[in-house]
Amino acid sequence: MIQVNPTLELLAPAGDMEKLKYALAYGADAVYAGQPMYSLRARENGFNSVQDIADAIAYCHARGRKFYLTSNIYPHNNKIRSFQKSLDEFISLGPDALIMSDPGMIAYVRKNHPNAEIHLSVQANCTNWSTASFWKDIGVSRVILSRELRLREIAEIKAELPDLELETFVHGAICMAYSGRCMLSTYMNQRDANQGMCSNACRYEYTLFEESKQEKYTPVKGKFFLKESQNPESGMMEVDEDEFGTYFMNSRDMCAIELLPELASAGVCSFKIEGRTKSLYYLARVVQSYRKAIDFVLKGQPVADSVIQDVLKTDSRGYMPGFFKPHNLPPQNYESTRVRSLKGYVAAAVRSWDASTSEAVVSVKGQISADRKVEIFSPESSRQTIISKNSLKNQKGLVVETLHSGMENCRIQLEQDPGEYAFLFLEE
Ligand code: SF4
Repeated sequence: MIQVNPTLELLAPAGDMEKLKYALAYGADAVYAGQPMYSLRARENGFNSVQDIADAIAYCHARGRKFYLTSNIYPHNNKIRSFQKSLDEFISLGPDALIMSDPGMIAYVRKNHPNAEIHLSVQANCTNWSTASFWKDIGVSRVILSRELRLREIAEIKAELPDLELETFVHGAICMAYSGRCMLSTYMNQRDANQGMCSNACRYEYTLFEESKQEKYTPVKGKFFLKESQNPESGMMEVDEDEFGTYFMNSRDMCAIELLPELASAGVCSFKIEGRTKSLYYLARVVQSYRKAIDFVLKGQPVADSVIQDVLKTDSRGYMPGFFKPHNLPPQNYESTRVRSLKGYVAAAVRSWDASTSEAVVSVKGQISADRKVEIFSPESSRQTIISKNSLKNQKGLVVETLHSGMENCRIQLEQDPGEYAFLFLEE
């Protein structure tokens, strides 16, 4: 039987309070959210104030879950004092740990808040036991390992430092640079990834143009290759461009769900999902799949294929299992910045249940009409049902044929309560 840490943690992203609630409902043990202005999701952070974070921490703690505050920008001089002041304020709220990367700011917290727990951010790129040992000596209790490590290297770090907690990303976006430490976004859009403002410039569709006499530029068609000019031995790298352009820096997303047993054996105690800006449905589906997978690991069993298939149904940039083991998939997805794996769409998110009329009160996310088969997907179960005639009501309470995306407080009659946090998923 596989030996695992009995306290394996599923750590989910919380882009805002609503996502935090869904992450917990679908099985996360802990969530992470950005310190306003000072995390690497500075632009898309749904937590904007001290009160927002205080509410989030209270919500998690009331349910016996943990809340980690991501405070991982690399500040320039002009931000140091304000960052320190902000840290003082947020630490007083009692997050379970701070996720940090800047050595100077870590030293500040260690000195001024000796009891605050610090987890080293993936942004600090810890790739070996010597660096991990350095951070442990500084007083970091957990290291979030670089995504670029092999399983063998993780096991070696654990063997050298058995008391240090190791966390690793197992699902979500991967940078073509070492976890965000790149200047591409600054170069293209004057938005610094290391200040939390990455514009995802590596994902853009790029098209090659040539100068022409008639118009200033015309698109160039054909096959193109790059070669290192000074090295006759170097191979040709195809810059594959079709009618949709080329995505030559667009990394596939990671899905390492099958590797959880081996990662646990290597000494990882916390499995992290990336994606604070992803949709509620994506978050729910991914968190639920990894919850089930961790439960298999805790029972010493391999992850069931049905669980793996479920998570692969989520949209992505094309999945690969990361860098833990060699594999044959190219790390880039040259063809598209989005792979649609969902065979259908989310029609509605259930907000509440009116037992007196057997109606679910919903936010409509996609068009929904009567006589359609839907999957009711909830934290507890997944089942099929048919939306019967005259069972759809708009926000005014009027029976309608169709509900449209964006409508709030609509009603759908169902045989039974779908449960809190459920979705209605319409297969195509
Ligand atoms: S531009 Fe791409 S590679 Fe650079 S930090 Fe952003 S996501 Fe990462």
